[in-house]
Amino acid sequence: MKHISIVDLLVSTAIHQEFIVKGWVRSFRGNRFIVINDGSTINNIQCVLDFENTDPALLKRISTGAALIIKGTLEESQGAGQRVELKISDLEVAGDADPEEVKRTILSPKRHSLETLREQAHLRVRTNTFGAIMRLRSKLSFAVHQYFNDQGFYQAHTPIITGSDAEGAGEMFRVSALDPENPPKKEDGTIDYSQDFFGKETNLTVSGQLEAETYALGLGKVYTFGPTFRAENSNTSRHLAEFWMIEPEVAFYDLDANMDLAEDFIKSVLGYVLEHCQDDLAFLEKRLIEEDSKKPQAERAAMPLRDKLKFVVDNNFKRVSYTEAIAILRNSKPNKKKKFKYLIDEWGADLQSEHERYLVEKHFECPVILFDYPADIKAFYMRLNEDGKTVRAMDILFPGIGEIVGGSQREERLDVLKEKMAALDIPEEELWWYLDTRKFGTCIHSGFGLGFERLVLFASGMTNIRDVIPYPRFPGQAEF
Ligand code: ATP
Ligand code: MN
Repeated sequence: MKHISIVDLLVSTAIHQEFIVKGWVRSFRGNRFIVINDGSTINNIQCVLDFENTDPALLKRISTGAALIIKGTLEESQGAGQRVELKISDLEVAGDADPEEVKRTILSPKRHSLETLREQAHLRVRTNTFGAIMRLRSKLSFAVHQYFNDQGFYQAHTPIITGSDAEGAGEMFRVSALDPENPPKKEDGTIDYSQDFFGKETNLTVSGQLEAETYALGLGKVYTFGPTFRAENSNTSRHLAEFWMIEPEVAFYDLDANMDLAEDFIKSVLGYVLEHCQDDLAFLEKRLIEEDSKKPQAERAAMPLRDKLKFVVDNNFKRVSYTEAIAILRNSKPNKKKKFKYLIDEWGADLQSEHERYLVEKHFECPVILFDYPADIKAFYMRLNEDGKTVRAMDILFPGIGEIVGGSQREERLDVLKEKMAALDIPEEELWWYLDTRKFGTCIHSGFGLGFERLVLFASGMTNIRDVIPYPRFPGQAEF
């Protein structure tokens, strides 16, 4: 006889056979029905106790949150709500949970707000909602690796501590081993980082892109999937200070091939979870409908969660140039009625989240890929178009999320790249290794970055990015 996961036990047909289940008590009713969850699935197994022949001292220890090891036979259930149940022949309390203490926690059986759950992030994975989200997150992560592996990509592990601060993707976290009380100083009074651990200034990476580019120009098709860090003070429901980013980079891909890859990739991983996370998605869908029922009609989701995911999988993303998008926005109702916080009047304006969401949620009502942005509002490494004023950039915008992907065809011409860096005061010495790739067998190439948590946000139907990562980091928060 062996330990079996509840996910397997619930589909087992081995009636009258003995199994061992290990998990945590969700509820205990009438001294008889113990509902156990072991994390393998959103579904619980009901275990039936012969309480008349159970030591009362042991009975007292069976309470919500306690860890139990239960031996029993699988039987067809008499009650409604479950096909099978476990008739207990032996029960051991592996770890008690004092009901008085449980009362103070989110393990107590009542509705807790997402904010309260966040304060007890070490316990929230034991709730239905967070169990479902975190299983979904794990499956999505697997789907990411499977997709790239199937498409002939190699994973490149780019560094997390980086010595270049020229990536320009945002504010960075300094990495230093100097004594903060008494750092060595240069003659001019500034800190002497040449005496620091790495002999230079170092930071936590904001993106693995530049290093991934060097690998694409050797391995052909590569991707990174790792943690990235941004010390930006953006207290939004879409930003974290520590998040996981997926960054494919492909030699000989132009922007069109890049857009095709991004679209196919997103559809593929969402298709994977639709197939492999049915119970969790069904639960999250129901949860969302309940949440929405408390909101005014206008704020409710347009479609049930799984229909929304299927819609993305089954329909083409709308591809629109920045210039077309500006024309649409300029003539839009919220712009004319001055409802946008930032009004669109001129070509060249950076798009704010309100504009992105208008395009996706009101105008096109489907995922949108915007391309060919003004060079001035995009990063130095993006390939300049023949018009001299736009670059081969693309952003993918999703309903309810805004930007989910940012990518581009990279500037492969050494002279154009150097000119751009000079114009932005990016020292060539900083990126000598990056420039080398343009000297030795340069070729057109493209890639993009997709914030993994934004993908999980979309797939789970949650609304705050802090609820789709186990231990969120944001300004003022690094508990756990
Ligand atoms: P945004 O405008 O939303 O701040 P960005 O332009 O700074 O995004 P990029 O630097 O292009 O984003 O990063 C690539 C992707 O990483 C984004 O499309 C998004 O999915 C994700 N991302 C960026 N910043 C964050 C963050 N602070 N937290 C979570 N995900 C992020
Ligand atoms: Mn940003």
